[in-house]
Amino acid sequence: MERKPIITIDGPAGAGKSTIGKLIAARFSFFYLDTGAIYRALAYKVENLNDEKSEETIIDISGRTVITVKNDNGMFRVSVDGNDVTEFIRSEKIGALASGISKIPAVRKNLLPVQQRIGSAGGVVAEGRDMGTVVFPDAEIKFYLDASLQERAKRRYKELLAKNEKISLKEITEDMIARDRQDIERETAPLTIPENAIVIDSTDKTIEEIVITMSNVIQHHNYTQITTKRD
Ligand code: C5P
Repeated sequence: MERKPIITIDGPAGAGKSTIGKLIAARFSFFYLDTGAIYRALAYKVENLNDEKSEETIIDISGRTVITVKNDNGMFRVSVDGNDVTEFIRSEKIGALASGISKIPAVRKNLLPVQQRIGSAGGVVAEGRDMGTVVFPDAEIKFYLDASLQERAKRRYKELLAKNEKISLKEITEDMIARDRQDIERETAPLTIPENAIVIDSTDKTIEEIVITMSNVIQHHNYTQITTKRD
């Protein structure tokens, strides 16, 4: 049986990767994989450690933590050592810690097979920072979703406001600048546009417009495969 494609969506925080990724996955009955949640789940475990949070400890933990994910009624859920932590990983604090630990090369190395195993069967929409470059370099379809800093900060502000998190737009913007810089400038698997990726700027586009654009690309891809096979 032919393997279903792997679709990657990379881009900075707040560009719309999760919202769009989930919709695309639902539309094609693919598995939605949020790799940021994997880094956040590890960050959550680190945050709740009693021992000293040295780089050695973090590396050690990243190598022996069992992280599992599932799609449950349209919700992406992540568990750490059998405990579902989905509800605890969305704060700015955990996001910043995730960004900090994700720049440690040995941590990325330990989390690489975890992500690749999930996507290996195909039929997956994987979103993150290094999906098309490092985790799934042979993915059939690669997207890079971007938006202006102001728009991304505004979106994240609305999201956190709805969750009653007390944080100002100014603080979010500053956090975002720091996180963007950290993700772009790190040496291992930095955030960058993958070769052959289709770049979409979501600043002035509706969610529906982006979903239509991406769906057309995916449908066209399948069509080309079918016609090629017939030749
Ligand atoms: O996407 P999200 O904001 O949930 O990701 C949290 C952090 O995890 C990012 O800022 C980034 O540093 C890290 N991350 C990563 N590689 C990925 C996904 C997320 O380094 N593939």
